[in-house]
Amino acid sequence: MTPVELKQREDIVSLAELKQQLVDCIRMLEQSDIIDYNGHCSIRIAVNRILINVGSCQRSKLTIDDIVTIDLEGNVVEGKGNPPLERHLHMGIYRVRADVRAIVHAHPKWSTFLTMVGAPYQPVYAQGSLVHPLPLLDSPNSINNREMADRLAATLGDRPAALMKSHGAVTVGRDIVEAFVLANYMEENSYRQYMAMQIGKPYAFSEHEIALCREKLWNANLFKRTWDHFRAKLD
Ligand SMILES: [Zn+2]
Repeated sequence: MTPVELKQREDIVSLAELKQQLVDCIRMLEQSDIIDYNGHCSIRIAVNRILINVGSCQRSKLTIDDIVTIDLEGNVVEGKGNPPLERHLHMGIYRVRADVRAIVHAHPKWSTFLTMVGAPYQPVYAQGSLVHPLPLLDSPNSINNREMADRLAATLGDRPAALMKSHGAVTVGRDIVEAFVLANYMEENSYRQYMAMQIGKPYAFSEHEIALCREKLWNANLFKRTWDHFRAKLD
């Protein structure tokens, strides 16, 4: 095999692996009750190419055939099926965040409960502090056009996550592992905060404690361990 052919084979393998990672991510989020029948995740594979799940797919039974490649205008350039109506959310963030290689968007219950009553997200457990402070998009509208996409991207700014009032949440990462893990930490923190609020006033970590958590827990190996924990539970 020539070096060029070998390189081509490596590219094909890695693209298939990225598609499988995206499939695993969505199935794990579905199994964890973070994603419902509407959620979507993406991986950027080139400046103007995004892998994303088909809008109408079954999240719990996803395969790589449910993944399409789109460009930053939302046109399908490879695969069968249509990307989600909220594909604009992904396009809008990738347009302005060169550091972002993966995005998770879901409508998780516990995080969204907080936004419904205007309760700010508080860092109440170590992993959950990684996304604090968590900006809030002050609109429940679907991100199904460029204007809403630009508003969300501006709200997110340079942060790893944002909430969307009475709608959902978005997390971003340098890879899909990071975006998945942060979604998990954010939702778990929201669950713990919500439950603690039923019996009293939750303790919120201090700035110093948050800095210590970030130093210890923002770590690719620990993110991989969290990913592997959930991956091992998939069929
Ligand atoms: Zn949504």
